Amino acid sequence: MRLILLGPPGAGKGTLAEALVEKLQVPQISTGDILRDAVKRGTPIGLQAKTFMDAGELVPDDVIIGILKERLERDDCQSGYIFDGVPRTIAQAKALDDKGVVIETVLLVDAPDELIIRRLNGRRSCPECGIVYHTATKRPQKSGICDACFTTLITRDDDNVETIRKRLKAYHAQTEPLVDYYEAQGKVKYLDGTLRIAESIEEAFKILGIE
Ligand code: AMP
Repeated sequence: MRLILLGPPGAGKGTLAEALVEKLQVPQISTGDILRDAVKRGTPIGLQAKTFMDAGELVPDDVIIGILKERLERDDCQSGYIFDGVPRTIAQAKALDDKGVVIETVLLVDAPDELIIRRLNGRRSCPECGIVYHTATKRPQKSGICDACFTTLITRDDDNVETIRKRLKAYHAQTEPLVDYYEAQGKVKYLDGTLRIAESIEEAFKILGIE
């Protein structure tokens, strides 16, 4: 399975990717996760990316294409991968095409901006194992603590209303054109991003024919 999860931030791509990884045993490639790790470790890429991420802007294409190239060379990509939050621009999509990276399906997970703002504003993440919670819809058993590894949950720096609005603006201007790009290749399937987590996973499995 070689799949792209396309859609605005907060549409549920990350949660869906986790379920697909478990089901299909292929890696999730999230440039957001890779960049956050680079920021945490203070690498040159992390330092460069942080300014853009904090501003809710996209990190420059050459940085992302470099990260992708390196990631795709790893052995675990042989039998497939799930791209989560990448590509985000036409230039990134073209770079993948030019490199001969095979994509079978692009699953567009979409939801209205106002729902996304509510979701992201209440999102809490585990900085250790990456599990994502929500203050209203997916609370951990003990408030503020990860159920799996007991680490204190954090609010991502870019999950505040002002930055969320900028990220949505970047999505509509720079990423949404990818729908037409992949429609022209006949690869797009649609998933309703307003569904609750369990329904959304069930629906995605149906759409992808992996029930
Ligand atoms: P995400 O976790 O996917 O929401 O990404 C968080 C932030 O990382 C984004 O707002 C961008 O600043 C940056 N980022 C992640 N992936 C990409 C990408 N493919 N292209 C450009 N910027 C990215």
